[in-house]
Amino acid sequence: MVSRVIPVDPFDLVIFGGTGDLARRKILPGLFRRFCAGQMPEGAQIIGAARTEMDDAGFRDMVAEAIREFGGGRSCEDGTLDEFLKLIGYQVVDAKGEDGWKELKARLNDGLIRAFYFSVGPSLFGDLAERLRHFGLADDDSRVVVEKPFGHDLKTARALNATLAQHFDETQIYRIDHYLGKETVQNLMAVRFGNVLFEPLWNAQYVDHIQITVAETVGVGGRGGYYDKSGAMRDMVQNHLMQLLCLIAMEPPARFEPDAVRDEKLKVIRALDPVLPHHIVRGQYDGHGVEPSYREDAGDPRSTTESFIALKCHVSNWRWAGTPFYLRTGKKLRARASEIAVVFKDAPHSIFGADAGRHRNILTIRLQPNEGMELGVTIKEPGPGGMRLVDVPLDMSFADALGPDSEEVPDAYERLIMDVIRGNQTLFMRGDEVEAAWAWTDPIIEGWQNRGEAPKPYDVGSSGPDDSLMLMHRDGRKWRDIRT
Ligand code: NAP
Repeated sequence: MVSRVIPVDPFDLVIFGGTGDLARRKILPGLFRRFCAGQMPEGAQIIGAARTEMDDAGFRDMVAEAIREFGGGRSCEDGTLDEFLKLIGYQVVDAKGEDGWKELKARLNDGLIRAFYFSVGPSLFGDLAERLRHFGLADDDSRVVVEKPFGHDLKTARALNATLAQHFDETQIYRIDHYLGKETVQNLMAVRFGNVLFEPLWNAQYVDHIQITVAETVGVGGRGGYYDKSGAMRDMVQNHLMQLLCLIAMEPPARFEPDAVRDEKLKVIRALDPVLPHHIVRGQYDGHGVEPSYREDAGDPRSTTESFIALKCHVSNWRWAGTPFYLRTGKKLRARASEIAVVFKDAPHSIFGADAGRHRNILTIRLQPNEGMELGVTIKEPGPGGMRLVDVPLDMSFADALGPDSEEVPDAYERLIMDVIRGNQTLFMRGDEVEAAWAWTDPIIEGWQNRGEAPKPYDVGSSGPDDSLMLMHRDGRKWRDIRT
């Protein structure tokens, strides 16, 4: 099955921070892949903007190098890069000063969609928003895209929202959480709301519990200084894991429209109970001198920042009363694997007797690697010798299901940037959602700060601290293996 490319209208896209890491690794290669897929309209323009002195040609060289390093797609033929580079320009601009703004405005075309990607630190969001208005680059139809971290806590998130709101309406603000741009995550909604099979079972009566795991093998490496002020709770749970939880737990929205979906997600966050201190485990990786430990990577021998979190929480509403949600994320774990597992309850009565053992249906939604879904079903073990039961997966790997063109399924950034151009906010976080998420995580973080709790050490390459295994064992459950 070939993925269908839906054209977008011509646009001017300005990437503030165009020389930075995110632009080079994700945004520019992603735009190139959309170009190769034929989705870049005639008349589209992409302008990098930052303080570094450079001309258009210099920036095009940088973009070409980034694309060579971080990848085009299979459909990007020789010569396509040169064509793509013709859309690219560069403007020296200081977000905090007056330089470059008039020149940047002169480069923009009248009558086209204008999108401004803030691929810079959040401390510059206010400066950029103010100058975009002051110098007349942005109007009421323009869009701004902002990156995580969206605040450090509720107070700073509120301040950021208020700053942006001084210059832009909520309908113009696109807060990126790239997890929402993943194919599987959107498929989760398609599976839930496009089939009659799952939704009747999607509740506390039939679901025993839900596990969400985002496991990484990398450490904090080069960004230890930033990460040490953040930790796994702020860096991963408050945004990515909570967004996944929302999509799993939300009620069916009336329509697949931005505010209908985001209203339902917000209700989930607001229904989350506070987390009890003994329902949360923090960890920090330890390389025992063979590999760097977290504290070495962070450059602070006494750091108490967590590189791992496991927690149990409850969504207090009729649908989920009594069904625990277990969330887990960490760095330097045994494998890079992200998945959501919906573990259904046992059949109410086994006609096969105790010897048949315990069998459960599990719906697994794999985010990485190999995006796909798997439904574990129980069948008879083939052959003679009575009724022996075995669990087998009904597997749907997107790569297989979509055929040879599936590599061309856009990655999260590509899809989300095209949604910005289309003006579709469904997969972007609304300001009140972000604030509600901080309102839930802030007391958890304050709690362990007040108690002076240190994270538990765990071995590099393991599944996290033993206490996180106990979090499940105490409930008679167990985490799924972290494996690729
Ligand atoms: P980075 O590599 O440090 O790049 C920052 C960019 O901002 C550079 O292009 C820099 O260029 C520009 N800049 C800094 N001060 C400026 C000013 N006063 N005026 C104009 N431009 C200025 O950072 P990054 O990793 O790309 O991250 C950008 C944002 O995305 C951050 O908010 C980060 O948290 C977020 N993010 C990054 C990643 C990632 O994988 N890198 C992932 C998720 C979120 P000049 O020095 O030339 O001005």
